[in-house]
Amino acid sequence: MQRYEATVVGSGPNGLAAAIELARAGLSVLVMEAQATMGGGAQCREFTLPGFVHDVCSAVHPLAVSSPFFSRLPLREHGLEWIDPPAALAHPLDDGTAVLLQPSLQATCDSLGADGAAYRKLMQPLVERWPLLARDLLAPPRFPRHPWAWARFGWIAWRDAKSAAESLFRGERARALFAGLAAHSMLPLEQKPSAAFALVLAAAAHAVGWPIPRGGSGQIASALAGYLQLLGGQIQTGARVDSIDQISGSALALLDVTPRQLLAIAGQRFPEPFRRSLTRYRYGPGIYKMDWALDGPIPWRASECATAGTVHLGGSLEEIARSESAVWRNEVNARPFVILAQPSLFDPSRAPEGKHTAWAYCHVPNGFHGPMVEAIEGQIERFAPGFRQRALARHMMSPKDLERHNANLVGGSINGGVHDFRQMLLRPTYRLYSTPAKGLYLCSSSTPPGGGVHGMCGYYAARRALRDRGLMSSR
Ligand SMILES: Cc1cc2nc3c(=O)[nH]c(=O)nc-3n(C[C@H](O)[C@H](O)[C@H](O)COP(=O)(O)OP(=O)(O)OC[C@H]3O[C@@H](n4cnc5c(N)ncnc54)[C@H](O)[C@@H]3O)c2cc1C
Repeated sequence: MQRYEATVVGSGPNGLAAAIELARAGLSVLVMEAQATMGGGAQCREFTLPGFVHDVCSAVHPLAVSSPFFSRLPLREHGLEWIDPPAALAHPLDDGTAVLLQPSLQATCDSLGADGAAYRKLMQPLVERWPLLARDLLAPPRFPRHPWAWARFGWIAWRDAKSAAESLFRGERARALFAGLAAHSMLPLEQKPSAAFALVLAAAAHAVGWPIPRGGSGQIASALAGYLQLLGGQIQTGARVDSIDQISGSALALLDVTPRQLLAIAGQRFPEPFRRSLTRYRYGPGIYKMDWALDGPIPWRASECATAGTVHLGGSLEEIARSESAVWRNEVNARPFVILAQPSLFDPSRAPEGKHTAWAYCHVPNGFHGPMVEAIEGQIERFAPGFRQRALARHMMSPKDLERHNANLVGGSINGGVHDFRQMLLRPTYRLYSTPAKGLYLCSSSTPPGGGVHGMCGYYAARRALRDRGLMSSR
């Protein structure tokens, strides 16, 4: 059997990023993936009907296009093409209108009425400094390289989203927009630093957009894999690693898994205090995900929703805050906050001619067993009456289904663990990427900077491993 200097377990965006960085340093690298298809959270399937291409997990990619690592890779040459919908996001309201988060800051301000000036004051400095800010945000905890950009961000970011929105804005429209963005944190909106997620996603929308890959998110993984193979890296699918002994032939092992799996795979190599700290790691809420094959576009009451790649369905700040905090009490709201993407409106390759796809999820308690189809479709019908009649087929994934599909989605948790202050700084422990076992590292979204398709966890884990072996400077 061929021996590899480094083995990466898991072919998610972080596993592939780690493998690329190791291969670029000249190491021979093997990626071992449990599933039959590589890509982890960036994969597509024909879940519903032939010819309808659905994103299994990630669909919309502001962090991928902001990623300092991905932007240095020749992913376009390996088939990755970004499509920018005219608006990043629509947030419909019960009065039949919708707030639009558009690439143009001015156009977005105009749609916020009296709150437009406050929105501009908040966002303009962040948008102007986005490339610098992204470099510090998509990195391990450290003193910011760009303190001035960071100071403007941190001033609001450390706050909870609910009180931040209430103090910054007077009207329902801007508050609702801010709440929907902050809900991506999967934190209660009354908890710090949920406001940070709203700032990051809004600034990215104006600075780089919220694009979708032509052909689906699987194209991100294919482009990363294509480049890795060009560098000599190998990928083996259907190769689940249950014990570290399976890969003991490699001097370096980087695991694109979460702390619970790390314990199962290599727990016997760790001292008791490290095992205990991994056990204490928290995963937070899960999600319930749905995909539809549709007979036509979603019949939005606010027609401007059809210009956006993503639509937030949750109404007002108060309603979204209620929905998000219920999840943390192990409950679900009858009207959950739903995040929906409609890629086929902008990418015809996703569905047969004249037909469409939709992708949506809502947050639920970790490991939740109950039914959510009525609640999710009810929220879509609320803002798009007649939606159900367009559905040709639907596909559901409960938290258990998600975890069965990808062991990293523990109890349906999609970001590798809670993103509160503690787990942003100590993710998953004070050691971040490294472990007490020589040559063994963690490189998944359970390390900094956390969830999302950006590859930065894998990149920094690989750099750490290379530095420990004296293969690169500590720059
Ligand atoms: C439904 C859903 C929607 C999302 N939407 C978005 C979005 O729109 N935009 C965005 O940026 N992010 C989104 N995310 C988050 C994003 O997908 C993840 O943050 C990202 O994929 C994390 O990358 P990763 O490499 O750390 O882990 P993953 O992508 O989860 O990859 C881990 C890989 O390791 C493999 N593996 C696990 N255990 C083993 C083992 N023992 N042996 C071998 N292989 C193993 C898994 O099969 C998997 O392929 C979404 C996630 C989900 C679930």
